[in-house]
Amino acid sequence: MTTLKPTLPTEHLAGIASTVFQQAVEQADIAISITDAAANILYVNPAFTRVTGYAADEIIGANQSLLSNKSTPESIYQAMWAAITGGQPWSGRLVNRRKDGSKYLADLLITPVVDAAGAITNYLGIQRDVTDLHRLECEVGDQKALIESVVDSAPVVLALLDNNFRVVLDNHEYKKLMTDLRAVEPATVILEAVRANLGSSLGSSLAAPRVGRYAFHDHEIRFDSRGGTRWFSCSGLWVQRKDGKVETFFDRQDDIFLLLVAKETTRQRTEQEKTRLAHLQAMMAEESRIDGLRETLSAAVFKIEGPINIMASVLATLERRGTGSPAGSALAGALYAGRDAIDSLRSAIPEHTSESRTAVNLNEILRDVLDLTTTRMLAAGITVHWQPQSVLPSLNAYPNRMRMMFKALVDNAIEAMNAKGWRERELRVVTRGHPDRVEVVIEDSGPGIPPGLRYKVFEPFFSTRMGGGKHLGTGLSSAQQVAADHDGVIDIDSTERRGCRVRVVLPVSRRG
Ligand code: FAD
Repeated sequence: MTTLKPTLPTEHLAGIASTVFQQAVEQADIAISITDAAANILYVNPAFTRVTGYAADEIIGANQSLLSNKSTPESIYQAMWAAITGGQPWSGRLVNRRKDGSKYLADLLITPVVDAAGAITNYLGIQRDVTDLHRLECEVGDQKALIESVVDSAPVVLALLDNNFRVVLDNHEYKKLMTDLRAVEPATVILEAVRANLGSSLGSSLAAPRVGRYAFHDHEIRFDSRGGTRWFSCSGLWVQRKDGKVETFFDRQDDIFLLLVAKETTRQRTEQEKTRLAHLQAMMAEESRIDGLRETLSAAVFKIEGPINIMASVLATLERRGTGSPAGSALAGALYAGRDAIDSLRSAIPEHTSESRTAVNLNEILRDVLDLTTTRMLAAGITVHWQPQSVLPSLNAYPNRMRMMFKALVDNAIEAMNAKGWRERELRVVTRGHPDRVEVVIEDSGPGIPPGLRYKVFEPFFSTRMGGGKHLGTGLSSAQQVAADHDGVIDIDSTERRGCRVRVVLPVSRRG
């Protein structure tokens, strides 16, 4: 069976379309006007009347300029006319006045209408009242500016990080800290420091963000720079931001951000540090007194052991010859007394004070050592170049032994440069962190150690200052012992410049 399509004459179809078009324009809920080429109004729809207050018969024949409040700048009209007379559409905002004199902000689109020859015959104007929208935009803009000025003037470091931990918003204090850290992103440094201290627990917290929860809270970290040490109490809070993407308009997926807040606690810490340093000074003075005693007694044992060993070998020779001479018995008696004296001396050597291993930051230890030796260095006219890596991974170490070790190395450097008549007096202390180790370089501009003695200086009781002063030569050997106890090494590097360059390498404690 064939179906026949009903056919209508073209003129009839055009008639229907024209009627529908007219009804659509009439009933549209947007103000429409049609003008001649000089903007004289030929037609307005009911929505135009609702917006402007002018009925069609009141405004037809008048110019569109009747709506002007005379406060729109001339340059805008010039741009409008340049566009529309050139055959281009124009859109923009104008301040208009209704019939009752009230003002409104019109969002206007003008489209030129051309005839078959391409000449502009009319203009189509479409406008909406956007007064309320504009007020809202201003309020949002004001609020944004207000929030930005509050955030900027807040006396804390603030940064908002996206899910790739990139900074999307920061404040004035953040930028200041960035300058202090020589353009290194503070957010990265903070997260690294927190990660170094919290280990995998931060990793799991960062991997599973929960809005309103802290990824970490009030975590104290220190930044070491040439300008000094700064302390911050840092928190990371998960916050949500509305996603404005079109593709998620119906299926909202809000982004989660990490709000970093770092509050400087340097002032409070400095006070605490003063007390701690005074305590440390007393403790280290006692330690070094005990070390001195240990060093003296060990040296005495070492020195007595020499002749005792000779006496023992002489006695062994006499005994082998089988001559039971009185000299032999006297020697045996002296040997016995000598060994007894060595045993007594050994038992008098004080034990190392017991301490337990803990997470140790070498910047902190070296800062302590430099603080403790400041007076000596000032008196010796030594300039210190302290170049710490801003954040170091921590070591699992004995803090006091570490402190004593670095103090011994710094003391050695001071002593070397403090020689009479020695002019170059510069001490450089550098720290560098690697994923598996921390390196400390202590470099002085003193006379240095001759290449032939580079290994010898690590022998117990060897000193380049042997023969003068009270130095017994156990400093480097005990320092090496401390490094070895921490699975580390100490070596003395050759430098192009004069002086001595001691490098200490210590492994980083592994965390789960
Ligand atoms: P005008 O005498 O219009 O002069 C303003 C500037 O426009 C001058 O630089 C002038 O040289 C230039 N200009 C004016 N007419 C022409 C032209 N025919 N050809 C080239 N340049 C010209 N204005 C409003 O304020 N509110 C409205 O809602 C609004 N709706 C409009 C809708 C349509 C469809 C059109 C075509 C124009 C509309 N206008 C509207 C613009 C309006 O016609 C006036 O140009 C404007 O109001 C400024 O009026 P005026 O008397 O202060 O200055």
